[in-house]
Amino acid sequence: MSDMSDLDVRGTVPVSWARRNTYLVVLVVLPLLALPAGAYAAWGWGLGLRDLLIAAFFYTVNIFGISVGYHRLLTHRAFKCPRPVRAALVVCGALALEGPPSLWAAEHRRHHKYADLPGDPHSPWAHGDRGLGPLRGLLHAQVGWFYTERRRSSRAHWVPDLLADPDIRRIDAAYASLVVASFLLPAALGGLLSWSWAGFWTALFWGGLVRYAVVHHVTWSVNSIAHRFGHRDFTTRDRSTNVGWVALLTFGEGWHNWHHADPTCARHGVLKGQLDASAGLIRLLERLGWAHDVRWPDPARLSARLSRIPS
Ligand SMILES: [Zn+2]
Ligand SMILES: [Zn+2]
Repeated sequence: MSDMSDLDVRGTVPVSWARRNTYLVVLVVLPLLALPAGAYAAWGWGLGLRDLLIAAFFYTVNIFGISVGYHRLLTHRAFKCPRPVRAALVVCGALALEGPPSLWAAEHRRHHKYADLPGDPHSPWAHGDRGLGPLRGLLHAQVGWFYTERRRSSRAHWVPDLLADPDIRRIDAAYASLVVASFLLPAALGGLLSWSWAGFWTALFWGGLVRYAVVHHVTWSVNSIAHRFGHRDFTTRDRSTNVGWVALLTFGEGWHNWHHADPTCARHGVLKGQLDASAGLIRLLERLGWAHDVRWPDPARLSARLSRIPS
């Protein structure tokens, strides 16, 4: 159990034993079983091109949905967009199976408020820096906190704006159906493209189960790796870092140090060579007239926060 959250329960509500066990199965155990199962199946039977493309398509939809929809749009209000575009981006995020949008945003706003301090739901520094502390901290930040935390962020406290939004309330209410859709859509695509039940089942495995496990661990690596390893190019009061390979996999979210330096900024990769596909998507939406009031980086703020000359 985390030492930190017990000290600080501001803006939190207790989680029931049943719900914690659901989190344990869906967020911790199933993905941890799916990943080696996928590796074993790929090794033994190979992975067909059709299933690979289906999994890659849903991975892309999910990562953009989390990064652009859940994170930059809902949690940090880095840009505005018309209702149908907003709803579509948030539904893409919900299909990643990381929880209903209002709960995800509530946990994440609390993370920013207390980042790496008592009250942060998932700091890799929660168990200190001595002995097994760093390893326990990384496991806690990656997936452990879903089960060990006895309290979750209060939505009424952290996201009253989202609870007042009828579109978000509707997507929250439809979350269970979206979980089913997240498995059924890739499976149906596989069945239709191959016109066979075998195609349905293999796409369910690769495009459903393995894809969601990979999406989860890629996303959670921002919470663990990008608060523990990597470069600190900017001055922040937390221990957030910039990690190139995490940024590549998360479409820009691994440039996490700048994100903590300027959380409402729509671009996370702001230094030379820092690819940020999510910022690219927001730019595209802006050009199409589907995003406005985008908070692009402010050069004065950027140079003021630089902690070292970037290499
Ligand atoms: Zn962070
Ligand atoms: Zn954030």
